[in-house]
Amino acid sequence: MEQRNCIRIAIQKSGRLSEKSLSLIQDCGIDYSAGSRVLKAMADNFPMEFLFLRDDDIPEYVHDGIADIGIVGKNEVDEKGYPVDIIRDLGFSKCRLSVAVPNTETYSGTAYLQGRSIATSYPNILKTCLDERGIEADVHVVSGSVEIAPTIGLADAVFDIVSTGSTLVSNGLQEVETLYKSSAVLIARQGIEDTAPEKYKIIQKLLVRIDAVMRARHYKYILFNLPKEHIEEVSRIIPGMKSPTVTPLYKEGWISVQTVVKEDDFWEVLEALQSLGAQGILVTSIEKMTR
Ligand code: ATP
Ligand code: MG
Repeated sequence: MEQRNCIRIAIQKSGRLSEKSLSLIQDCGIDYSAGSRVLKAMADNFPMEFLFLRDDDIPEYVHDGIADIGIVGKNEVDEKGYPVDIIRDLGFSKCRLSVAVPNTETYSGTAYLQGRSIATSYPNILKTCLDERGIEADVHVVSGSVEIAPTIGLADAVFDIVSTGSTLVSNGLQEVETLYKSSAVLIARQGIEDTAPEKYKIIQKLLVRIDAVMRARHYKYILFNLPKEHIEEVSRIIPGMKSPTVTPLYKEGWISVQTVVKEDDFWEVLEALQSLGAQGILVTSIEKMTR
């Protein structure tokens, strides 16, 4: 039954995206009480139904309207080519698609690939990357064990997902060039704002929560004691800090400061604070953070 006041989200059933996708949704305060083996479950406290699928099927299901939104690797979206809207880059499950060639070869840049054969399970992404660089190559589509292709004489090079590169090394290959980068994205059916405005409203509500969770993940909350005369310097060190919360301490000349710091800047800020005489520095994660 098509429910107008409920959205369906497609999530990978089991694999590299599953746990992080579900924990994002749970951090948004949305729970479901079905067991781990179900393929479909209603959220307990949000108008949303979960569909648990293979990641390959998610772009198609969202495109066809079986699901309204989905969480999937950008690589699958681009490879499958269904027109869907990427509404958020979720930043997790980052991976790269790289060219690898046998260790014995000297790679001279993308031109090396001209006229060669390349094995991959991502033929469409590869063709796009080669076209952009004006390279013509013979693309061999394989569905798994791509790394073995050069050893068995199937291809001169491979184009595949790399994380640590250890699989490549054990197959006598060297990673020579990254042509594509991916991370998990939230996708939605194109035009849903016109075709299903009620669902669109629910998606907007979900996005407010997702944004708050993602923002919080990028920041740390810090609390420290500081000699009062250094507050101006501290305000300069902590980027984006409009106005820290400052409380006088019982000890004369000392204040307690509370503020948020970007995760990326955290260690530098910590060192700078220590050099300014900050003491009792407490750091905690933030659960949600609104603008
Ligand atoms: P399914 O059974 O659902 O089809 P799968 O085997 O195709 O699963 P996974 O290996 O679980 O897929 O990977 C899912 C997605 O996670 C990939 O499409 C990619 O976006 C990302 N990913 C894959 N490999 C890595 C990796 N090594 N490091 C980080 N992310 C990865
Ligand atoms: Mg898959």
